[in-house]
Amino acid sequence: MHVSAIPAFDDNYIWAIQPYDGADAIIVDPGDDQPVREWLRHHDVGISAILITHHHWDHTQGLLPLLQDYPVAVYGPRTGNIEGISNPVGHGERFSLMGDMPFTVFATPGHTLDHICFYTPDHVFVGDTLFSAGCGRMFEGSPEQFYDSLQCLAELPDATSVYCAHEYTEANVKFALAVEPTNDALRQYADQVRALREHRLKTLPSTIGIEKAINPFLRAKSSEHFAELRRWKDQF
Ligand SMILES: [Zn+2]
Repeated sequence: MHVSAIPAFDDNYIWAIQPYDGADAIIVDPGDDQPVREWLRHHDVGISAILITHHHWDHTQGLLPLLQDYPVAVYGPRTGNIEGISNPVGHGERFSLMGDMPFTVFATPGHTLDHICFYTPDHVFVGDTLFSAGCGRMFEGSPEQFYDSLQCLAELPDATSVYCAHEYTEANVKFALAVEPTNDALRQYADQVRALREHRLKTLPSTIGIEKAINPFLRAKSSEHFAELRRWKDQF
């Protein structure tokens, strides 16, 4: 399986999943159709399906324009009221794409109430729930919901690649270092991230194992601890 990042807006990544090189792609969170169209043209492939993690415009605005030219199945949250979703899904549901690629849906309320993540073995597409060294802002959910959502992701195998929807890693690492200044794994990770960003390279995907070692929100001990970190980060 091959996963490509299609940069959009200032710091979004739209992910394109291909079971093999040259295959039509599964597109995750097309906030803008233009960069997706350019990527498809460049790789001379089509779209096989679309996955939507939550209702925010920067994850959905390209959906209806793409459907005009690629009338494919769209999997997205049952509760989000998002126009264009043909296959609404909820927590624990499974489906297969491209014949034999199995996906499992996790409900991860917190950033929004409708937020879901898509897991296929060794890869998880987390939208704005989890960022490297951080997490999404808590717009709609409660600290208890958000904490439980992150703990659900933390139970995935350590080697699972984590595909976040934004390149926020460098700013998140600064906050994480303020929380845990003596965390050696975090300090090493901060050096790697700085070097990548100096060359304007992407810091993603991360892995569940890395995030469990360096991400203060995934390392929070309770929903109260999570709430305290989230409040601190909002002011940081
Ligand atoms: Zn969002």
